Amino acid sequence: MAESAGAERALTKNQTLVLNALEAADGPLSAYGILDLLREHGFRAPLQVYRALERLTEIGLVHRLESLNAFVACCHKGCSSHAEAIVFTICEDCGSVAEISDSSLAEQLAHVAGRDGFRLKKSTVELRGLCAACQQPAA
Ligand SMILES: [Zn+2]
Ligand SMILES: [Zn+2]
Repeated sequence: MAESAGAERALTKNQTLVLNALEAADGPLSAYGILDLLREHGFRAPLQVYRALERLTEIGLVHRLESLNAFVACCHKGCSSHAEAIVFTICEDCGSVAEISDSSLAEQLAHVAGRDGFRLKKSTVELRGLCAACQQPAA
């Protein structure tokens, strides 16, 4: 196999397939949802998806939404810039998810954590409510 050696950010075939599936999706996908989408590409076991997700999450191309137990593709390429604090708004009505980058929040969280000498490495904040569209009164 001709692997492109040396490129640390190079993705394996499976990682690329999982990332593409998430990027093409309208919203968050569960690992099993991804598996279903990729069966035609030879995915058979959840472990194949979990391994790819683990790596993609690690390098910041994919984020895990704990409260939904689902995954989304990062909407900022090379998310390491906001890796300390990632904010998601999750609409409880339509299920839409938006990723917000806010460095001042990262600083505040690090400050709050640091009061007791805790060193913050990363945080994912999930805010639940209604998106702008879902707040419109029904016609
Ligand atoms: Zn991101
Ligand atoms: Zn909504």
